[in-house]
Order: sequence, then C-alpha cells, then structure tokens
Amino acid sequence: MNISVVGLGYVGLIQAAGMAKLGHNVLGSDMDKNKVDKINSKEPPIYENGLKEILQETVPSRFSAYQELKKPFMESDATFICVGTPSKRQGEMSLHQLENVMRQLGELLKEKKYHIFVIKSTVVPGTCENIVIPVVEKASGKKFKKDFSVVMNPEFLREGEALEDFFDPDRIVLGSSDKTALKKIKEIYSPFKCPVLETGFKEAEMIKYASNAFLATKISFINEIGNISKTFGIDTNIVAKGIGMDKRISPHFLKSGIGFGGSCFPKDVNAIVYKATEKGYNPKLLRSVLDVNRDQPLKMIELLDRKEGPIKGKKIGLLGLTFKAGTDDIRESPALVTIKELLMEEAELYIYDPKAMEKTKKLFPHLNYLSSAQEVVDECEAVLILTEWPEFRTLDYGKKLVIDGKNLFFDNHRPENYEGICW
Ligand code: NAD
Repeated sequence: MNISVVGLGYVGLIQAAGMAKLGHNVLGSDMDKNKVDKINSKEPPIYENGLKEILQETVPSRFSAYQELKKPFMESDATFICVGTPSKRQGEMSLHQLENVMRQLGELLKEKKYHIFVIKSTVVPGTCENIVIPVVEKASGKKFKKDFSVVMNPEFLREGEALEDFFDPDRIVLGSSDKTALKKIKEIYSPFKCPVLETGFKEAEMIKYASNAFLATKISFINEIGNISKTFGIDTNIVAKGIGMDKRISPHFLKSGIGFGGSCFPKDVNAIVYKATEKGYNPKLLRSVLDVNRDQPLKMIELLDRKEGPIKGKKIGLLGLTFKAGTDDIRESPALVTIKELLMEEAELYIYDPKAMEKTKKLFPHLNYLSSAQEVVDECEAVLILTEWPEFRTLDYGKKLVIDGKNLFFDNHRPENYEGICW
C-alpha cells in the first residue's frame, strides 16, 4: 500500500520513517519548509535515537517529503493524519490544524475514487464522528464508508524511545464504525506482533486519554508520596521500590521528581478535564493530578532557598532543559517553569543541555548558555539537575550544592553536597 503522512512533527516523522523502514512507499507532507528540506537531505529535524540512520537508508528511495498536500494524497491509498492538537488557554484542545487539513484533503478527494484517513493526532472523544467525517463530507461532497473512510489509530510513543516504541509497541488500537477500512489498516500493521484492539471511534479516542491520564496520575501520586516522605526525612526511592514490588502496582512510572512535562501529558490531561467539565462532570482526581504537577518544580526552588537563600543575585546553574533525556523537545518542560521562577527571584542563570539549547534560546535569548555541563558547575554557586542526561552523573561537583530533580544519582554515587527533591 502507498502511504502518505500529513504533519511530519514528532509523531508523523516517526510514523513515516518507520513505515518506510518496513518497506512501504511513504510520501510525507508538512507545511514547514525547513522540516521538509531537512528530511529530504536525510537530516532529522528532531533528535531521536536511530532516526538519522533510517532517513539515510530510506530517503529518497522509499520516503520523500513535500510542502504540498496534493501529490502525497493523490499518490497514496491511505493518509496518516499527524498534525498537532495543542492546548488553548483554558486547556481546551485546539482542532484548528486538524480541521484545516481535513478540509483541504476533502477538496482533493473530489478528484479521487476512494481514500482512507487514519487519525493519529490525539483528539477528544467524538472528534472523528462529529468533526472529521462531516468536514470531509462537506468539502468533498462524498460519503463516509462509500467514497472514503476514517480510522482512529491513537499514538502511544514515548519521546526519547520513539522508534523502539514504533517497532515494538505494546498494542495497536484501531477504532472505526467501518469494518472494511479497519481490515485494510490492520493489514498495514500485520508485521507487528503485538495485540491489535479493534473498537469504535470514541473508545479509541478515549483509550489515549485514559492511558495518559493514568500515567500522569501515577507520577503525581508518587510525587505526593515523595513530598510527604521528604517531610519525614524518608528516601522516597526506597518507598517506591517497596510499593513497586507489588504486582498490582508495578515499578513503572514510580519515579518521584520535578513532575511530568512534554507535549502530551499536560496537554491531554487538561483537554480531558476541560471536555469532562463541559459535559457536566467534575473530574476531581485529574484536577488534583494537574495541581500536584504544577507545584512540583517549585519544590526545587523552595529547597534552594532553604539551603542557599536568598536567591537574588546568586549564580545558579541549570543542567538540562528537556522534560526527559533522549529528546530535544522542551514543550511543557518543568525546566522552563524553573527558569521563569528563578528569573522572578532575580537569580543569575547559567545553562547547559546537550540537545535543546538552540530551541530554548528562542524563548529566553538573554540567559548564559555555556558550552559544557562542567563549565556550568564551575561557574555557579549551586546547581539544579532538571533532565536525567547520563553525562551529568560524571561531573566534578566538588563541594557545590547539587539539587537533583530527576533522581540522576539513584545508585547513591552522589555528589558531596547533594539533596534530592523527594529523597
Ligand atoms: P508537532 O507539532 O511536532 O507536529 C505537527 C506537524 O504538523 C508540524 O510539523 C506542523 O508543521 C504540521 N502541520 C500542521 N498543519 C499542517 C498542514 N495543514 N499541512 C501540513 N502539515 C501541517 O506535533 P506532534 O508532537 O508530532 O503531535 C502530533 C499529534 O500526535 C498531536 O495530536 C499529539 O497530541 C499526538 N501525540 C504526540 C506524541 C508525542 O510524543 N509528541 C505522542 C502521542 C501522540
């Protein structure tokens, strides 16, 4: 099957490159010229382990990128829709990119006999049935199931391990009311050994939110336990180990720290809270998950103030800018909250991250970005660890105060003057 992918951001590029690696012909499209040019010159626009090698192998023989929608759409049988669904101010999901792209594809569908749209963007329950299908029908004048079809296929990749997750997923979820289209898309995924769960549209849409809400809840839960444990002088890592040995709980996602970030958890939990409230249900638990997470980066600053205060005028080093290691994504990173808070406290900031300094400079151009982590340590009076990049484990911290928000020294080879956020 010839495949096209619209939106070559994190999800779309992994989907396109992965499918090309598996032998499909993939035509990608993105409105961002810079991304398209980079992909066509085999240069990944994002950092993700193994991606460069796949682009080198598959571009241009099985994968090429275009700024237009028409060619990829006309020359493919199915299109994976991977455009962004960012948060609006109140947490509501914005469908602007999705509606826009479905309208344009609907127009193009006038010239085609049949096409399947596979929605990989995260969308709140009801979006496929109440927005995607009507928008395509209106723009094309054609009929769902007869002339085109739609399948909801939520994405579960973890940034930093995205290709690993693409090639070895835990499950594939396919939701539609059209059994024929489900069968065709299932065939595309036939090389994968994992279970494939077939559902209706709304169930597939909700599975994505429920997954992210559960994982976010687990993180806020262990952070709350961590905040309580810290007041008793208890090391939360030992507590997490003890509870994680219970099979019903499992050890995964029980690492306390500065809280969750990234392009998914905050946005998705906010979106489902917003939608549930709109539907007349008050999601108390999920609101608390967000509350705990909002306050968590501030715990680092409270610790810093207690140990080294007053912060005003102090030289503070920040190691790491991304919300986790293995990616250059800084969206909703707790490091950005920390920067803003410390700037309000009038600290002098010195910063290093191995992958994300260029992206951060666009948001905070006037900070001191140094060329190595060791330089940051040497320059500063205290250091905050905000991303678990392994290289930060081997620095010479001397007697400088190190406040760890990411449990980098979990095996106890800790710097001399060290304090963990919840341990
Ligand atoms: P992204 O912002 O990195 O990428 C979206 C891309 O779509 C951008 O490159 C943008 O230029 C492009 N685009 C927007 N409108 C377009 C148009 N009209 N024509 C062509 N291209 C267009 O977003 P992302 O992180 O890849 O996320 C995409 C979706 O997948 C979101 O709904 C997100 O919630 C979901 N998701 C993301 C992740 C993740 O880890 N990033 C994981 C699972 C699900």
